[in-house]
Amino acid sequence: MPEYVVSVGMECHAELLTKSKMFCGCENAFGGEPNTRCCPICLGLPGTLPVFNKQAVEHVVRTALALNCEISMRTIFHRKNYFYPDLPKGYQVSQYGNTPIGINGFLEIEREDGSLKKIRITRAHLEEDTGKSQHVDGLGYSVMDYNRAGVPLMEIVTDFPPDVESGEEARLYAETLRSILLYLGVSDGKMEQGSLRVEPNPSVREKGSEVYGIKTEIKNLNSFRFVQQGVEYEAKRQIAAIEKGEPIIQATFGWDSEKNESVLQRVKESEQEYRYFPEPDLIPIEFLEEYIESLRASLPELPIPRKRRFMQEYGLPATDAAQLVSERATADYFEATAKRADPKLVANWMLGDLTRLANAASQSVYSTPITAEHLAGLVNAIGKGTITGKIAKELIEPMFTDGKTVEQLIQERGIKVADAGVVQEIVERVIAANPDIVAKIRAGNEKSKGFLVGQVMKEARGQARPDDVNRLLDEALA
Ligand SMILES: [Zn+2]
Repeated sequence: MPEYVVSVGMECHAELLTKSKMFCGCENAFGGEPNTRCCPICLGLPGTLPVFNKQAVEHVVRTALALNCEISMRTIFHRKNYFYPDLPKGYQVSQYGNTPIGINGFLEIEREDGSLKKIRITRAHLEEDTGKSQHVDGLGYSVMDYNRAGVPLMEIVTDFPPDVESGEEARLYAETLRSILLYLGVSDGKMEQGSLRVEPNPSVREKGSEVYGIKTEIKNLNSFRFVQQGVEYEAKRQIAAIEKGEPIIQATFGWDSEKNESVLQRVKESEQEYRYFPEPDLIPIEFLEEYIESLRASLPELPIPRKRRFMQEYGLPATDAAQLVSERATADYFEATAKRADPKLVANWMLGDLTRLANAASQSVYSTPITAEHLAGLVNAIGKGTITGKIAKELIEPMFTDGKTVEQLIQERGIKVADAGVVQEIVERVIAANPDIVAKIRAGNEKSKGFLVGQVMKEARGQARPDDVNRLLDEALA
C-alpha cells in the first residue's frame, strides 16, 4: 500500500458578540422563545433597509489583525442567492471576491513538542447567520426559528494548498483560533451551542503526488475531540476507498459522535451557482488608516506568545503556563498575583487549591473572593514563615468563603508559628521517645527520618516551620 498524505482545509464560522444583530436592532443572544428576536429586517420583508453593525465590523477587523491579515481598506457586501427555508430573504449578505475585510494572514499552532507551525489563512470576512429549522417529534413537518437570522457571523478560511496535515493539527488549529477569539472578546466560542462551527475539508493523496485529492466536508463537530476524530476517520475512509478503486465523491458529511463515524449528508454534484452580486442596500466601507492602527494597538498579547513568555519570565513548566493562559482573565489574575509574590508558588496555589475550590463552586479562579492581593498575601505569609504550608491550606477555605485576608484570619484565630526554641524541645522529646528509629537513621537509613519529622509536626500541631524541624532534627541526630 502506498503512503498517503492528508491535507485539511479549515472553514470556521464564529458568531460575534454584539448587543444587536448585523443589520437591525434585534437582540443578539443564544436561544430564547422561537421567533421572539426577529423583525421585518431580519426576515427581509419588502420595504426594509439594513444598516450594518459597526461593532461587528470592528470585531472582524481586530480578528483579522490578530491573525496577521492585511486589511482591505475598501470592502463591500454581496448577496449570496439561494433558496432555503432558514433564509426568508432568499439571499445571505456575505462578502465575496477579493476584498473581504481580512486577507492573506496566518495563525501559528504549537505542537506537542513546543515547535510552532504556521497555518496560512486566505480570508476573514463578515456575513450574517441564518435561521434554524427544527424537527419536532410527531409534528410531521419542520418548523422555523428566526431568532438566529441576521446574527453577525465571521468566516475564517485557511489557504490552499492546506497547511493543516492531520486530525491533530486540525484540532490544534481550532483550539488556537478559539482561544484567540476569546482573548479578543469577539465571540464566546461555544462549540456545543454552535457559536463556533469548525468545518474541516480533508483530502488525501499519494505521497509525492502534486495533485490534491478530492475533499469532503465534515459538519456538526461540536467539540475539539470530534474535530480530530472526524478528520482522522474521513482520511481513513478516503484511503480505503482509493485502495478499493472507488472514486472519492465531493460531499458533505455529518459527524455521528455516538458511533464515531461520518454520515453522508449531501453530495455536491456541481458547484452551486449563487449569483453573487454587490448588495445594493449597503454602502461600501472605507477604513481610515488611523482607525485600523488604533484597533491594532488595542490587541492583547495572544495566548501562545503569552504562554511562552510565562515559561521564560516566570520559569513555569509548559503545562502550568498553558493552563494559566487558557483564559485571558486567568492569565491576568496570575500576573497580578505574581507581581506581589513568588510566581512559581503563585502558580502552584492557583492550579492546586484555588482551582479545586473554584471548580467546586462553579466559579473561575479570577472571580472568587480571593483577589490577587489576597492570594499574594497567603503566599508571602508562608515565605516569611508567619504561617506554615499546612496552616495555609486550612486558611484558604475561609479566605474563599468569607473573602478574608490571611492577616485577618491569623489575628482572629490567634495563629502563631512555634518558635525554634519550642520546636527544639519537641525534637528532643521525639528523639528520646524513639530510640529504635534513631538507631536506624544513625546506621544510615535516611528514610526513617521522615517518621520523626511527622512526629514533630504532629506534636507542634502543624505550627512548626518545616525548615526548623529539619534543621533541628539534623543537628540532634548528627
Ligand atoms: Zn431584526
